[in-house]
Amino acid sequence: MLQQTQVKTVVPYWNLWMKELPTIQAAASASSDKLHKLWEGLGYYTRVRNLQKAAQGIVEKNGGIFPRNYDNVLDLPGIGRYTAGAICSIAFNQPTPILDGNVIRVLTRIYGIAENPKEKRTNVRLWELAEELVAGSERGKDSALRCPDASARRPYPKDSCSHLNQSLMELGALVCMPRNPQCAICPVKKHCVAFKENRIEELPNLGKREAATSRRFISYAIEQEGRFLIRQRPAGVVNAHLWEFPNVEINGGGFCPEEILKSEFGFAGNNISHLTTVRHSITRYRITLDAFHVKLGRRSPSSSSNKLGVWKSPAQMRGLAFASAYKKVLAKLPDART
Ligand code: SF4
Repeated sequence: MLQQTQVKTVVPYWNLWMKELPTIQAAASASSDKLHKLWEGLGYYTRVRNLQKAAQGIVEKNGGIFPRNYDNVLDLPGIGRYTAGAICSIAFNQPTPILDGNVIRVLTRIYGIAENPKEKRTNVRLWELAEELVAGSERGKDSALRCPDASARRPYPKDSCSHLNQSLMELGALVCMPRNPQCAICPVKKHCVAFKENRIEELPNLGKREAATSRRFISYAIEQEGRFLIRQRPAGVVNAHLWEFPNVEINGGGFCPEEILKSEFGFAGNNISHLTTVRHSITRYRITLDAFHVKLGRRSPSSSSNKLGVWKSPAQMRGLAFASAYKKVLAKLPDART
């Protein structure tokens, strides 16, 4: 859950997850709908599918016991070098390095690294520095970040690898932020090259960002006899397996919702009203979604076709996991009428 997501966002999801699926076995055997519902709103849904694959693998091959060996952890679906390092250091106190955006920022500033951290050579160097630091904490020897005041030094605690890596993460998240870092209260400012040389603003050097692209979609909450037409997103696309209302991307400025409803979805609807406009971002895309409520007449052969999806009542829809934008549309729907 913590991949790409802040702790404060994760906490309620974590608590609910642990209530519903408290064991590896429970996660391994949960239904896809249940998994996605528990993850609804957290984003990056590949994570939850990988989590289940990992849980299934652990049950099948390791008797349901989470591995402690770094290479075995790294072999699990969805676990890369950073996550394996975080798990092994934080949970098992092993000297395994971590390097995420926060740690990159901290290290490039402390060591005054001007090269772009995405470049291979610089990335290798950053991993080496992260490794030296956590290995140094394990050995209890001097490391670059050790307090220079001998009288203030304390023996390294037994969880030193865990603490070292968590400290790096927290320093990046709470003190050494991208903008307005709190150097005055920073515990490592005496060692920080960027602070000493007044280069904080220029580090890390992340190069030019890709320009944002605007995209516009139109979506229909099509209601018939108190039920709505929804569809599940296919595998392999963004927000795969989540539910949504029928929608289509539109190009150009003006559009006629009635015409698009007819041409794209085959429904003739005079009873159309604007429901809401949702603005959100996915990667570099800035998306505007205009949602319309369509009321169809009584069921007829043409309108009962479910090739486009399935018909569900609002109560049924609330039990399904919707992509964030469509969850906002769902919240705007009038109550079911039969
Ligand atoms: Fe970051 Fe400032 Fe601390 Fe350096 S002194 S690590 S720039 S917060």
